[in-house]
Amino acid sequence: MNILLFGAPGSGKGTQSFRLVKELGFFQISTGDLLRQAIKDSTDLGKLAQGFISKGDLVPDDLVISLVSDVIKKNAGKNFIFDGFPRTVSQARALDLLLSKFSIKIDRAFFLDVIESSLVSRLSGRRVCKNCNTTYHILTKQTQKEGVCDLCGAEVVQRLDDKEDVIRNRLKTYSESTFPLKDYYTSNGTFVLVDGNQLEEVVYSNLLKHLKINNELDRVSSKC
Ligand code: AMP
Repeated sequence: MNILLFGAPGSGKGTQSFRLVKELGFFQISTGDLLRQAIKDSTDLGKLAQGFISKGDLVPDDLVISLVSDVIKKNAGKNFIFDGFPRTVSQARALDLLLSKFSIKIDRAFFLDVIESSLVSRLSGRRVCKNCNTTYHILTKQTQKEGVCDLCGAEVVQRLDDKEDVIRNRLKTYSESTFPLKDYYTSNGTFVLVDGNQLEEVVYSNLLKHLKINNELDRVSSKC
């Protein structure tokens, strides 16, 4: 079974994916994480991507699609969870084409719906561990020791694209380029709306309900 999570920046895609990976054994493909790793490693892709990411613009489709294509090929046979990819209708078409080469498809496209005022406060207060990527929030999920990750002890920082002016552009980019994916996945019958304004726990159990309703959860677990 293959699923994807899409929604605005700050809608909780990463948080929910993390649990689905941990508890159900999905293999996560997060283009945001892959691009940040490429920047850390100073690869050619990382150098190209950095300028787009720091402004809150999308990295060009061809670069992201080839990145994802490599990961899918290397991990064929796993149950994928796509997090933050696709972000444009042309990426969605490319993904369908790629998956069809492995005779697989997206079974559910979960849209995490969150009101805009919450997105801004979630993103501007978000802090991330430089080492293990655990996320915190200055008001709702503080570290025990200021600026230090509870899990690995590394420094916890604000992502450069979580600054307020970049957040505004990311949200604009989202409504122009990513929101139209709703129509794409509605028309192929995979779209599932999830209220992302609720507590993390509640959102997660709603995702599980949608997976279980179709008895496909067992298929995922049995493969892992
Ligand atoms: P995220 O961590 O998913 O919020 O992504 C951080 C940034 O990486 C985005 O604001 C984009 O600049 C870039 N990015 C991530 N995924 C994609 C994608 N599928 N297509 C284009 N750019 C992306």
